[in-house]
Amino acid sequence: MANHLLFIPGPVACAPEVLEAMALPLVDHRGPEFAALLERIVRGLRPIFGTEHDVLLLGSSGSGGLEAAIVNSFSPGDRVLVCPVGVFGRRLAAIATANGLDVDVLDTPLGHAVDPRALAARLADEGTRRYAGILLTHNETSTGVQNDMAALAAAIGAHPATVIVDSVSGLGASEFAMDAWRFDIVVTASQKALAVPPGLAMVAVSPRAFDRMARARAPRFYFDLGKAREFAALGQTPWTPPVSLAFALDVALARYHEAGAAHAFERHARYARAIRAFAQAANVEVFSQPGAHSVTVVAMNVPDGLDAAALRTDLREDHGIVMGGGQAELKGKLLRMGTMGHFSNADVRRGLVALGTVLREHGHAFDYDAALHAAGEELERALTASATR
Ligand SMILES: *Cc1c(COP(=O)(O)O)cnc(C)c1O
Repeated sequence: MANHLLFIPGPVACAPEVLEAMALPLVDHRGPEFAALLERIVRGLRPIFGTEHDVLLLGSSGSGGLEAAIVNSFSPGDRVLVCPVGVFGRRLAAIATANGLDVDVLDTPLGHAVDPRALAARLADEGTRRYAGILLTHNETSTGVQNDMAALAAAIGAHPATVIVDSVSGLGASEFAMDAWRFDIVVTASQKALAVPPGLAMVAVSPRAFDRMARARAPRFYFDLGKAREFAALGQTPWTPPVSLAFALDVALARYHEAGAAHAFERHARYARAIRAFAQAANVEVFSQPGAHSVTVVAMNVPDGLDAAALRTDLREDHGIVMGGGQAELKGKLLRMGTMGHFSNADVRRGLVALGTVLREHGHAFDYDAALHAAGEELERALTASATR
């Protein structure tokens, strides 16, 4: 168990320093140490979101942050447009429906990203009942698809809807420019690219979204973002926060900025390219379409005739490598390998050696050495490039 490498797309491997921070003695969450900690965390998060405005911490997983975004922005009966490209996008629609919103869906075939032209066309054709909200997913973890958020922002243009973005498995791993893209609420969570244990949601909120909250009538109490903002101004949270997770996030953010965001972007992209290069050379189809590839998770089709559950069991039992499977209608059809977490090139190589070995044992025909060589070239190429910079 101690030697297991988690390649699932969250929770992820954390740096020892981050885990050690969880063991520190607690502090008064209404005292000066916590206020200073909260301020440091918000200062560290702002550039990652690409915002100069409020970032609120909630004691919850990512889904709680998404629910908070929705219940603080709308009233029952409001019409919203959801643009799902997989399971997590559909969860956004489910949260909206559960809160009495009138949900319209812009459909996209699985494996594809949202087509900005289709979004623009839908907005141009919304009729007299205008959308109060547009709900987007930055990175769809179930299909390994990443949307082009700059292009979607451009497609939305000056539409007055409150734009909410699930960037739970995206933020930190690639460029994000919330203010420039005019997004209203962006949500992420601790256990993905920021590589902290699960239990903290981070919600960035635009001034416009706060203005609109006073009018939103969806029920809320624990997830009242207006209250969270009032307490944030005092260096606190309304309810007892997961203090130990805040310690861990603080350390993770310091490490993130010490290496630099560019390093994090390059590393995730490098690992994702290496995994895709392996797949291509190993006759394993990548599920996401060209141009729509995620940098944080690679979804691969399980080769015909192979049993996804048995592959995953052998990876875990024989090699200590833990990968994700498919969700919902993709159950049994995908293997998902994440790139988020405290990984080195050697760890990624170890994961791919295990995958290659297990695929071979299960009778999949491919050139094992060529597949590992293809992955190795991607891993080395970026290292050489950065070494000469
Ligand atoms: C992980 C994830 C979530 C949140 O899941 P929780 O289990 O509630 O933290 C939401 N959206 C995406 C895209 C995710 O990857």
